[in-house]
Amino acid sequence: MGERILIGVAWPYANGPLHLGQIAGAYLSPDIFARYHRTKGNEVLMVSGSDQHGTPITLRAEQERRKPEEIASQYHQEFLDSWQKLGISFDLFTSTGTANHAEVSQDFFTTLLNKGYIYKATVSQPFCPQCQRFLTDRYVEGTCPYCHSAGARGDQCDDCGKPLNPAELIDLKCSFCSTTPQFRDSEHFFLRLSAFRDRLVAWVKQQTHWRQNVLNFTTRYLEGGLKDRAITRDIDWGVPLPLAGFEGKRIYVWFEAVIGYLSATKEWAKSGADEEKWRCFWQDDTVRSYYFIGKDNIVFHTIIWPAMLMGYGNLNLPYDVPANEFLTIEGKKLSTSRHWAVWLPDYLERYDPDPLRYLLSISMPETSDTDFSWREFVRRNNDELVATYGNLVHRALTFTYRSFNGCVPTYEDMGIKNTREFKRAQYTQLELNSFTILKNMDELLSKCHFKQALMEAMSLAHEANRYLEEKSPWKVIKEDRQAAAKSLYVALSVISQLRTMLYPFLPFSSQKLHGFLGFKGNVEDGGWEWHFLPPGQKLLPPEPLFSKLDEGLIEEEIGRLGQGCHK
Ligand SMILES: [Zn+2]
Ligand SMILES: [Zn+2]
Repeated sequence: MGERILIGVAWPYANGPLHLGQIAGAYLSPDIFARYHRTKGNEVLMVSGSDQHGTPITLRAEQERRKPEEIASQYHQEFLDSWQKLGISFDLFTSTGTANHAEVSQDFFTTLLNKGYIYKATVSQPFCPQCQRFLTDRYVEGTCPYCHSAGARGDQCDDCGKPLNPAELIDLKCSFCSTTPQFRDSEHFFLRLSAFRDRLVAWVKQQTHWRQNVLNFTTRYLEGGLKDRAITRDIDWGVPLPLAGFEGKRIYVWFEAVIGYLSATKEWAKSGADEEKWRCFWQDDTVRSYYFIGKDNIVFHTIIWPAMLMGYGNLNLPYDVPANEFLTIEGKKLSTSRHWAVWLPDYLERYDPDPLRYLLSISMPETSDTDFSWREFVRRNNDELVATYGNLVHRALTFTYRSFNGCVPTYEDMGIKNTREFKRAQYTQLELNSFTILKNMDELLSKCHFKQALMEAMSLAHEANRYLEEKSPWKVIKEDRQAAAKSLYVALSVISQLRTMLYPFLPFSSQKLHGFLGFKGNVEDGGWEWHFLPPGQKLLPPEPLFSKLDEGLIEEEIGRLGQGCHK
């Protein structure tokens, strides 16, 4: 039995279609990580779900005169469809709209309240005299007091990432009617974050394995002191408070959304053989929990959620929070409101998933913002997937299939007596390099260095391509069939290792290749190991793994920017 790994992934608001910024920021890396760990034989639980609550949903519902639950369920279905098409392999992708989630969230609330980590206080809240209601979060807009950017919302500034209270905003306005709100008293519950400061500082100091950007952001935030934060709101959409007399209020969305990692694990356990199995992922302190999020979400996962977990007690704290930076689109900041975004459902309707997974992995915004451009998408697909890796695979497989009776060359083809003689004589420098690269990738992937790991695999594909070119078995075969058989065997052996190495990044084409090479079952079953390719193994008729893309699509796609999702 391997290790157990809990992978928590950011909960997308179910208020609009997914876009590439979210995929590069938070969804592709956990999938690579999960597939890698599953291949290693580790027990992975990767969970997330749609965030159905909060003002992003109600705001959209009011604009479209629909019910929030209709919006939420429409996008939840769309998310599930996108995960399947892009190959994001959640063990459970649920939603915050379930009875289970409400129950787990209310238990969390009650426990923290009983322990004194939640308290009640009267606060003055913005109230719009025109709309006749309290304005929370996204219902108010103003200027950020920290970075002075306009259009900051009542819950967070998108520009500097600081969480905000409406009262902190400069030039406060109602988002609906632009009226300047009044302040009225309302009774709310607060999370006593200040009580956790010393414990958090000591804990964060130990997290030397965190990415520098995550560590710096968290440390700076803690240095600024910790303010207690309101965790209830005057709204009617969300998880109700587990107390009588507060029927008009709901638990604030960020407080219950992070609890989703725990409630999803419980839901997963309930649907299996052992309802108590969630404990194996949350109460066994040898289990590592990873949280994959975008950088705008860091504070919730390195400070607030850990504080809540400390307060609740007997639950694992995060082991790592490998947050990514942002993806820009054609050199400009991504903006969903201005539709400066590439919508995932649109992409998936027109193109294969692996070329996108490849591009977003090789230019993943791990340590700084990176740019997505359609020109780069076409170039990477045509030069790297098609001309390098795909060409290597296709040439080696088709020529072998044709010339060696649809099989990997046999010992006889190569003029070798048996496995022992074969192993002594045969291992080439190229195969030895593939062994080293597999080990390097193991180390890199276990530390969430995804971009670097993929570059290692691609360097091997380049090297194997050069090897095949140099050996030219299609020429040599006329005079020396054994030499041709040997070089084809070496190429196929390295291709077989690439199948494993590239599986976390390119699951669809790796699984296809797995079949072409004559393997049964799934790539994952083989383990993260160097595999001996059995001589004489029956191959399947090969087909190209990737197809060339026409440069004409670049202009066409750039022309679509600024428009909403078509699907
Ligand atoms: Zn108003
Ligand atoms: Zn700001």
